[in-house]
Amino acid sequence: SRKIFSGIQPTGSLHLGNYLGAVRKWTHLQKARENVTLCIVDMHSITMPHNPPMLRENIFMMAATLLACGVDPAQSTLFVQSGVMEHAELNWILSSLTTMPRLAQLPQFKEKSRRVKDVPLGLYVYPVLQAADIMLYKATHVPVGADQLQHIQLAQHLIRAFNTRYGEMFPECSPMIEENDASRVLSLREPSKKMSKSDQDPRGTINLSDSPELIREKIKKAVTDFTSDITYSPSMRPGVSNLVNIHSHVTDESIATVVEEAKLLDTAKYKERVADAVIEHLRPIREKINMHLANERELCYVLEMGAEKARKVAQHTMSEVKQRLGLGISG
Ligand code: ATP
Ligand code: MG
Repeated sequence: SRKIFSGIQPTGSLHLGNYLGAVRKWTHLQKARENVTLCIVDMHSITMPHNPPMLRENIFMMAATLLACGVDPAQSTLFVQSGVMEHAELNWILSSLTTMPRLAQLPQFKEKSRRVKDVPLGLYVYPVLQAADIMLYKATHVPVGADQLQHIQLAQHLIRAFNTRYGEMFPECSPMIEENDASRVLSLREPSKKMSKSDQDPRGTINLSDSPELIREKIKKAVTDFTSDITYSPSMRPGVSNLVNIHSHVTDESIATVVEEAKLLDTAKYKERVADAVIEHLRPIREKINMHLANERELCYVLEMGAEKARKVAQHTMSEVKQRLGLGISG
């Protein structure tokens, strides 16, 4: 059966694109009774200079957000990476199974290392740690964005290298990439680009923590075009189609239904309707985020239980790994 692993960096609040494109899919997999492991990868967040109190806050924010979005800790395994030390341990072992040129050519490394004068070793090893995350749980499926494809390919390479050198132990892992018009949420300001955390213009992005007033404001100012009726045509009318797509997602109605029901509306009126729908959909999520954040002890408890579940699997994998490598004195 499938084992699904996904890592998410504790970057504070999530936006509507992360929610519709990633988190909601995890909750659907969970509903379908799939084996889902979700890891808040805090050790991946220190490869570039960071602010410690902010990191801590962001870990809690991410955990609260995932729970509010419907991640069920009784069904899925939700935990924080640094609480399971086997991630760092396997990372070390895997680092001897790949080469420096292979890591140096990865696009994300090339792009990020260009921005700093002295490149941290952690930035370089980052994708090896990512492979360790996946392999510890013997994951077979990894939901990721298209920009992570090369990292999954590195994990596949490490899995093959390990299995070849030390005997079959890890299953093949495949990326689950679903990037099409319907799963990509676009920036409200520049509908030629996707909605993104790193967008310089905050008006392009709807955060799950935005107030209803702010959400309405952002949707009202969303860039559309000079045609006033509502149609769905992502290539010709990306701005309006993005609103239709968001509307369809948050109401669970088909694109056709949403468009049909907007027949008599102009763009301004339609934006009001979309804003209402988004606000209604996000309201309970925002309330739950605040509820979880207000109860830090409970949140810690949930994460510790998750770490315990994860540790059991990770420790089992690591003892097998050490045995295969001839490390230590047991076996
Ligand atoms: P950054 O700009 O820093 O890359 P991001 O907004 O792209 O941030 P990520 O943390 O890279 O967010 O992505 C987390 C998850 O959300 C990934 O699975 C990614 O595919 C998904 N995702 C990100 N942006 C969108 C979007 N606009 N529409 C749909 N899915 C998205
Ligand atoms: Mg991204």
